[in-house]
Amino acid sequence: METVAPYKEIIDIIKESGGEAFSLCYQCGLCDTVCPWNRVRTFSIRKIIREATFGLTEIESEDMWRCTSCGRCPEECPRGVKQIEIGIALRRIATEYGVFPAAVKPIRTINAGLVAQGNPFGEERKNRGQWIEGLPVKAFTEGMEVLYFPGCYPSYDPRMKRVARATATILTKAGVDFGILGEKESCCGESIRKTGDEELFKRLAKENIKTFIDNGVKKILVSSPHCYHTFKNEYPEFMVNFEVIHISQYLFELIDGRRLKFAKDFKKNITYHDPCYLGRHNNIYEEPREVLKRIPGIELDEMPDSREKSLCCGGGGGRIWMETPREERFSDLRLEQAKGIGAEVLATCCPYCITNFEDSRVNMEYENILEIKDITEIIQEVI
Ligand code: SF4
Ligand code: SF4
Repeated sequence: METVAPYKEIIDIIKESGGEAFSLCYQCGLCDTVCPWNRVRTFSIRKIIREATFGLTEIESEDMWRCTSCGRCPEECPRGVKQIEIGIALRRIATEYGVFPAAVKPIRTINAGLVAQGNPFGEERKNRGQWIEGLPVKAFTEGMEVLYFPGCYPSYDPRMKRVARATATILTKAGVDFGILGEKESCCGESIRKTGDEELFKRLAKENIKTFIDNGVKKILVSSPHCYHTFKNEYPEFMVNFEVIHISQYLFELIDGRRLKFAKDFKKNITYHDPCYLGRHNNIYEEPREVLKRIPGIELDEMPDSREKSLCCGGGGGRIWMETPREERFSDLRLEQAKGIGAEVLATCCPYCITNFEDSRVNMEYENILEIKDITEIIQEVI
């Protein structure tokens, strides 16, 4: 085994990243028992922690990049070890050395796109607001009720643009005074930070913070649980606090306040998938379910792994940009679970989850069995 990074550096970087409790690990293995990787292949975060404790990390190993930061194992650990922070600290070392195993290499292209254009696709910044074409969406101005921040996937990805458009349609119908930043918006930086690129995260966060302040933004509505998480829990590291609300919460408020009313039924069996960064990381389980339950005609059933025990889609921790062999995709397991309870629609509210589920739906030839929908796409059909 080749040890590339010296003992002291690994320990120090882990401590700096908030993972100082790693020395408390007593190797019980509970983390490995609940980790979704062990449903598709062998993987041991316990072993990674042990090696790091002794400075024996192999930074060229692909295993270091597997953790999706799903948040499942920290909840089970009896010693309060911060597995996610430890994993990110190790990736920071690999990023500094420029060591990326084959499956992780796409991160280099993602990084270049984020630096040059503020999005992971490398699409032109000036096209960021094109998703509004034909919709009465305004540029954000100070004093508006809310800034809608769709994020990168709903701004550029053809499948996810449908979600941004559904959101804008709903907001317009409910009479919400909202606007967008268009080309002034940059990637929130949450996922690139999880790949260990702290510098790029800081750069993106500072760009967005300056734009929010310059434009008088007070309240930010987001489609992505990843934007939600970083605006709410990570941007305060820069001494700022914006009011942040996820679309599932905002829809609940609009329905509860009777600003949004239903005109039709949605007569289908639905199941709801809790995105890791909405549920486990931010404790938002009820509002999305309440929104769905209030739609007339809906039959809502739970899958075997739901709420706190939700099965990760595989897209967090920057994994959305890495290569995962077909037989190792958690999203395939999730679709099987949805089918297993007789759901016709798998509903969720995260761009990464939808992207992974749509891929699995095609690969598994489930096109005629299961629909994948964002909550906004369902609401749009019944108002
Ligand atoms: S659950 Fe906690 S204490 Fe047990 S092996 Fe994992 S990190 Fe160590
Ligand atoms: S956070 Fe999730 S993916 Fe990462 S090691 Fe823990 S259980 Fe596995």
